[in-house]
Amino acid sequence: MSVLRIEGLRAGIAGRELLKGVDLELQSGEIHAVMGPNGSGKSTLAHVVMGRPGYEVFGGSVTIDGAELLGRPVDERARAGLFLALQYPIEVPGVSVAEALREALAAAGRPAGQILEEMVAEAAGLGMAPELAGRAMNVDLSGGEKKRNETLQLAVLRPRFAILDELDSGLDVDALRQVARRVERARREQEPPLGVLAITHYRRLLHELTPDAVHVLSGGRIVRSGGPELATELEQTGYAGYRVEPEATAP
Ligand code: ADP
Ligand code: MG
Repeated sequence: MSVLRIEGLRAGIAGRELLKGVDLELQSGEIHAVMGPNGSGKSTLAHVVMGRPGYEVFGGSVTIDGAELLGRPVDERARAGLFLALQYPIEVPGVSVAEALREALAAAGRPAGQILEEMVAEAAGLGMAPELAGRAMNVDLSGGEKKRNETLQLAVLRPRFAILDELDSGLDVDALRQVARRVERARREQEPPLGVLAITHYRRLLHELTPDAVHVLSGGRIVRSGGPELATELEQTGYAGYRVEPEATAP
């Protein structure tokens, strides 16, 4: 069993503090949803936890089983068991999905011998054309194909914790179900079971992927936490009660 712990995380970009003290604890096998209005800092949280360059960290900590991740480069965080499925997957011309995964497995000291067979099997389960594995990463893929591709990488890499940033965006109902089922399977079958931080603006994903906890991020803080019923409530009320006014503009 592993624990991903985010404590008092304060961070931002371009001199602006966007996360103002985020606390969140996720255990192996749990699914926590992070919801919140557009611009509330959900993607910022994902990027800062994964270590994307360009973000400034002002304080707090992010640990897996007590080992600090802040200040370490992305690849080290990946080796510590962290995976991020990007809201907007990046196109990498000249690098195939298979090559990228082979590198990642090698860096983690894991065998990559069966990688093509594994990718073909995963692609079939996700409704992807098997030849996508040999194509350049995300180049000329539709939005939905990119999201399936992120899920395929997750399936092959078997991280301890996955942050899924709006994995549902751009997916139709059938694709959403395939992707959610694959994530759910990683939670059931992996050892240790996958822990998931599912960032989502809508409740759609959570119909397929039942969260253990739901958190509302607003104004750079988690302002409310609850069970799955909180997602239902948000679907009805929207985020009207959580919108934070832009800071200190002159009257
Ligand atoms: P969410 O994912 O919840 O919609 P984001 O984390 O993407 O929110 O963005 C939070 C805020 O940070 C927004 O006001 C956005 O405009 C701002 N922001 C995001 N990326 C940058 C950037 N690269 N430079 C400056 N501001 C940014
Ligand atoms: Mg976002």
